[in-house]
Formats: sequence, C-alpha cells, structure tokens
Amino acid sequence: MRELGIVTDAAVLCVDGKFAAVGKRKDVRRQAPLDCEERDLAGCVALPGLVDSHTHPVFAEPRLLDFEKRIAGASYQEIAAAGGGIRSSVKGVRNASTEELVERVSGFALDAWTEGTTTIEMKSGYGLDLESELKSLRAIQQVVRKLRLTIVPTLLGAHVVPTEYAGERDAYVDLITREMIPAVAHEHLAEFVDVFCEEGAFTPEETETILKAAVAHGLGTRLHVCQFTPVELARFAPYDLASVDHMECATEESIRCLADTNTVATLLPGATYFLGRHDYPPARKLMDLGVAVAIATDYNPGTSPTASMPLMMSMACTQMKMTPAEAITAATMNGAHALRLAHRKGSITVGKDADLAPFLDCRDYREIPYWFGRHHSKFAVCSGTQIPTA
Ligand SMILES: [Zn+2]
Repeated sequence: MRELGIVTDAAVLCVDGKFAAVGKRKDVRRQAPLDCEERDLAGCVALPGLVDSHTHPVFAEPRLLDFEKRIAGASYQEIAAAGGGIRSSVKGVRNASTEELVERVSGFALDAWTEGTTTIEMKSGYGLDLESELKSLRAIQQVVRKLRLTIVPTLLGAHVVPTEYAGERDAYVDLITREMIPAVAHEHLAEFVDVFCEEGAFTPEETETILKAAVAHGLGTRLHVCQFTPVELARFAPYDLASVDHMECATEESIRCLADTNTVATLLPGATYFLGRHDYPPARKLMDLGVAVAIATDYNPGTSPTASMPLMMSMACTQMKMTPAEAITAATMNGAHALRLAHRKGSITVGKDADLAPFLDCRDYREIPYWFGRHHSKFAVCSGTQIPTA
C-alpha cells in the first residue's frame, strides 16, 4: 500500500473514456493524435479518481436533533431507543417522491465530484418496506442515468427492523429474503446486498439468512459489522463478502481470518469522528496482519454527513496512523477492490476507465491529507470528461 508509482512531468492520453497511454509527458505526447484536445494540469498532483465505497445518500432530511442530543451526551444506542437514529429517517424517505430523492442524491454526487470522487457505492436503507426500498434504488438508478460518474447501488433493506415489525423480526427478515431481494435482482436495481450486523440491528443468524438469499439471487455481499460489538467473522466465509465495513472492535481472530482473502476491510473514520468517539478502526493491525484496507466516507444523515474523501484520508493518517501513501491506496485501489471493480477503477493504468482526481494546489501527494478540510480538487475527470465542466 506504500507503493504509489509516482510519475513526475506526466501525462495521460484518454481515448473513448479509457486510458490509452500513461507515463512521461514526452512519451505520451508522441502517441497522441494531432486533433487531440489538451488540458494542462501542470503544477498539480493527479490521483486516480477517488473511490467512495460506502455511502447512504438516499434520505430526506439531516438529523439535527440527534446531533444536538449527542453533543449533550446521549449515545448512539440511547438516541436509537428514543426513536431517533436510522428509524427517524424512515418517515422522510417513505413520504418523499422519487424526484425529491433524486435531487438529494444528485446534490451529494456533485459535492463528491468536487472532492475528487469518481466512483461511489450508494445504499438504500431508509425505506425499510418493499416499496420505499425500491423507490430509493430507483432514485439511485435515475442519478446513474443523469450523471457521468460510476455508481454502484446496494440494497440495505437490513439496516434495522422497522417499528411496525417490532416483535415480528422473522417476518421482516422474510420480507427482505422473499420479496426485496428477488425484486431487486429481477429489476437489476442493485449489485450488492448489505446487512447491519449489530446489537439493535440484525443478529449473526439473521445476517446469514439474508446473505444466503443474496447469493442465491446472484447478488454480491457486504456487511456493516463490528462497529459497536464484536462478531466472529469466520462464520461469514461461505458468502464471499466483497467488504466488511466499520471493524472498530473486530477481534484478532476475526482479523486473521480475513487475511489473504478477497474481502476488504472498509474503515469509516468519519463516523467515529462525528459520533465523538475515540475508538478509530485498527487500521495498522489490519494492514500488519495482511488485510486489504479501504477507507470511505459512510456519508449518511446520522453519523457521517460528509462527502469528502480527502478529509477521510487526513483522518486515516492522524487518527489511524496510516501513512499518506497508504491512505491514498485505501481511497483508490482498495476501494475499487471493495466494490469488485479493480479491473476498471482505482489506478491510472492503460485500459482502465480514465478517471482522475486533480488536486490543483498540491505539488506533493502528502499535501492532500495534510491540508485538512480544504477544498483541493474543484473538479474530477470521469471516463475522460471533466465534471463539472468549467
Ligand atoms: Zn454505513
């Protein structure tokens, strides 16, 4: 993760949305056609387009009441028990029109672009009934058609058990496995199924039932796990998880069973920060034991309302003791692996999608996490096209 493959005085040639040549400017220029449109990014650091592999953008309103309650000392669990938290976003999504949701998701995508993000995983999960989960995923699909960036949709019907199913958990798990997952697979509305495996959300047994249904319908799998309470991860090995996300309190045994597998650990320092906690995910331990680590924003209205991947890179360095190079790999190549898109995304390589994040006022890649909270990027390049256009 420390090998960035830096090229100075570099250029890329984009043809049909892909990198056709990369390397020293003089070499790339020789391969460029005469009518090639040139864009000068001299004096900046250009990274591969950043990959935000974990977001929850389909909601109606920010959760300002929860924010104030937490400042006054309430815990995540206390806020959830008092009717706040995830469940308080459900009413907003159920009442919102698809167009309203499209508008909010598009706004987030534009924010992300100006921070250098070109690939975003987007989850449903605030509808929690068949119709509202499908509406959420259809809103994401409309954003896919409207905007140029790459979006990977995920069904998170298993976010929490909605209030109307309290006392009937099995019936809600049935709704997910027998109705939501088949409908989503049939309409090609999502590529992954995610489950929040946590006390107060879904048990490991329920999680397995849902993962089994996902695999049976040809969908990929990922988990929110080990955020507040540890769960042994070995039991999930049969489901070929693309990613296990959060991992703040993962045991060493769980970490060891991830090493040398296809599963990435996606760490979300924004949530730890915004919850005012100090138990950042154990990035060094994961990396030292051979686990591939990605970082993502976890953009959501309750615990991480930020679209900024550079800010996550800064937190990865200062709070999780990752080196700037490791943070960059985690935000690009390993994010692409977490979405099973490494053949197309995550590096500036001939044949991959021509996605770039130019950091206009940085001359050294270490400046990106160093100047924290600063808006460095202003635009991104998605498949060879500048977004937003200047
Ligand atoms: Zn999340």
